Amino acid sequence: MFERVKIEIRGTVQGVGFRPFIYKIANELLLKGFVQNSTSGVTIECEGPRETLEVFIDRIRLEKPKISFISNFEYSFLEPIGYEDFKIVNSRKETEINAFILPDISTCPDCLKEMFDPKDRRYLYPFINCTNCGPRYSIIEELPYDRCNTTMKHFKMCKICEEEYNNPLDRRYHAQPIACPECGPHIELWDKHGNLVTKYYEAIIETASKVMEGNIVAIKGIGGFQLIADACDDDVVKNLRKRKHRIEKPFALMFPDLITLKEVCLVNPAEERLLLSNESPIVLLKRKPTEKSQPSNLVAPDNPYLGVMLPYSPLHHLLMKELKIPIIATSGNISEEPMCVDEYEALERLGNIADYFLVHNRPIARYVDDSIARVIQGKVMIVRRARGYAPFPLEIKNQPEDIKTKTVFAVGGYLKNTVAIKKGDNVFISQHIGDLSNEKSILAFQKTLEDFQQIYKSNSSFFVADAHPDYYSTQYAKSKSKHILTIQHHVAHAASCREENQVTGNALAVVWDGTGYGTDGTVWGGEFFICNEHSCIRIGHFRKFPLPGGEQAIREPRRSAFGMLWEIYGNSFSEVNIPFIKFFNKDEIKLIYKMLEQKINCPFTSSVGRIFDSVASILNLRQKINFEGQAAMMLEFISDSNTEDFYNFDIIKNEIFVIDWEPILESVVNDLNNGSPKSIIAAKFHNTLVEIILTISKLFAEERKVLLSGGCFQNSYLLEKTIKKLEKHNFKVFWHQKIPTNDGGISYGQIAALKWVDQDFFPTK
Ligand code: ZN
Ligand code: ZN
Ligand code: FE
Repeated sequence: MFERVKIEIRGTVQGVGFRPFIYKIANELLLKGFVQNSTSGVTIECEGPRETLEVFIDRIRLEKPKISFISNFEYSFLEPIGYEDFKIVNSRKETEINAFILPDISTCPDCLKEMFDPKDRRYLYPFINCTNCGPRYSIIEELPYDRCNTTMKHFKMCKICEEEYNNPLDRRYHAQPIACPECGPHIELWDKHGNLVTKYYEAIIETASKVMEGNIVAIKGIGGFQLIADACDDDVVKNLRKRKHRIEKPFALMFPDLITLKEVCLVNPAEERLLLSNESPIVLLKRKPTEKSQPSNLVAPDNPYLGVMLPYSPLHHLLMKELKIPIIATSGNISEEPMCVDEYEALERLGNIADYFLVHNRPIARYVDDSIARVIQGKVMIVRRARGYAPFPLEIKNQPEDIKTKTVFAVGGYLKNTVAIKKGDNVFISQHIGDLSNEKSILAFQKTLEDFQQIYKSNSSFFVADAHPDYYSTQYAKSKSKHILTIQHHVAHAASCREENQVTGNALAVVWDGTGYGTDGTVWGGEFFICNEHSCIRIGHFRKFPLPGGEQAIREPRRSAFGMLWEIYGNSFSEVNIPFIKFFNKDEIKLIYKMLEQKINCPFTSSVGRIFDSVASILNLRQKINFEGQAAMMLEFISDSNTEDFYNFDIIKNEIFVIDWEPILESVVNDLNNGSPKSIIAAKFHNTLVEIILTISKLFAEERKVLLSGGCFQNSYLLEKTIKKLEKHNFKVFWHQKIPTNDGGISYGQIAALKWVDQDFFPTK
């Protein structure tokens, strides 16, 4: 089967024989497509069998012309469109070149070599960088990208740096953050009161020994503060959890190198490529099944995956060289707040968490978290789009003429918020901002939007927002403009998946997540749509059930279970033998009955996320949660992957169809009472969801295309089983690659959904 790969390469790839080089290997591999210079590098599209495309990708990286340098390499697999030959295409008209800002790029091999060369003038210098690597987005204050518009403007270049900067033959020609120990920023280690402990390289050595002694150190990284600590010591991890108010949510790890990482995690070639990429995200990897208790199991309790990364900045390389052990490297914040970027702010906000502060005097213009990615069926799936990726644009295809020329802001959703701006054919997506649940995140949201307005020099008054009237993002947009359009949450998810995969024609979109405001005022989250170039129509959903306590039910899976079982059994359900009921005391039960009977604070929902919660609660895996998705994750992780059985379900056909979960829940309760292992019940539950998607696909996906979007598809058991099952039945399955399947993708989806909107919204000139 042929596939099309679309590759965007940025870096020094123009005028260095890059296109003829691509042409040559494409021909050798008999691939069809094209290569073209783009505003920030080259774009390649190629069609052929998947294995050959993988070889093509590897060969570009390995055999590229010596003088070229790839700073970013993003690719996604798409449907083939039937290229007949391979062409070098003439450049598109270059528009708005200035709008392109490079993300922060991990340290290049040349700089690394110099940094560890005792004869080099930048020996052990933590701010070494060149045209091919170093900070970008996190230091830019304004465009154009010149030193005077970056936070490096405070440092006057020394003679030698200036010569390098002005020499077109030098690797540092016009490298805006150029610096050396003579003229650039430096590091200092402070105690928690801000007193100097030591500086320069001594500070690295001292930091390493503080970490080894069990201290928690806040370090000022590329896009903000990180908290680092010994990942192998249970007591240290416990201490960090306590101080950071992060009870069970997994921590990310940084390993000294790939070898030590491979001792702990399983790494396939696509994952290795991702770990070593210039974007260097946190990669979710399966932990090797061993007895080894290092790193500490408390890093990611009850979780078969670890989020791991390799050193990506000079500072990290130096630190890890001294440390030689895996460390926790988590964002420097308290629970869901944004990361700190300023050292004095850090002293204040992180003073109760960190024992020491490794700081420097290069200001950070905006915070940029570490990105998170995983590999699904050989394809990269970005879970959190931030450092290394933001704010690179994604192209948007086939826009109606009147939208094409408009600049539009999208303000995203509520959880995992991101914002986006559409200019022409490009959508620039912000770095991950976070949940808009606290004042600091809300300020960060406002600042990011203002930032985008300023950077992209736009005062457009067109806003798209979520349909939820209470979301802060929606209210903010409304306060800023009269030209505001709201897009239903799950429609935005469907649009984002369709657009990033460049799907044409009619497709079935399965959108499952935790919460989204429905057009009927209820809470949606188990939706089916048919979408195409012109419209997105809801054709079905899960049967609705009451959520006693509303918002509170999101934190207490047992409330979802209560609501669903009450729907089945009414007031007599406490006599049904279900163990979870004992987690409520008598007064609570009375109160919830009353709420349900009188329909007080019991919003109705079709959310699949909440159904996951219910099953997790009934199996007593989790009654209350500490972070979003925790109950569903536990259900995923205990599932027996060899079980193929599933439960019965009903499809009620009305005007639109309704999936009835009642038989599923009854079977879960029966199985439990009959002593079936939880691992089997959990697997059967997952398999049932896969079976539901297959059944609906057979009924409605006439063109055999199925899109999967929404937070539930972060569940790799569900996602991979669904893909395999559908592909076996000859469906084409599209899931997310560059855009998060969770609410981080909503801003992009809001813009992608514009083509489904009544065009009158955009007045013609
Ligand atoms: Zn470099
Ligand atoms: Zn210098
Ligand atoms: Fe969502």
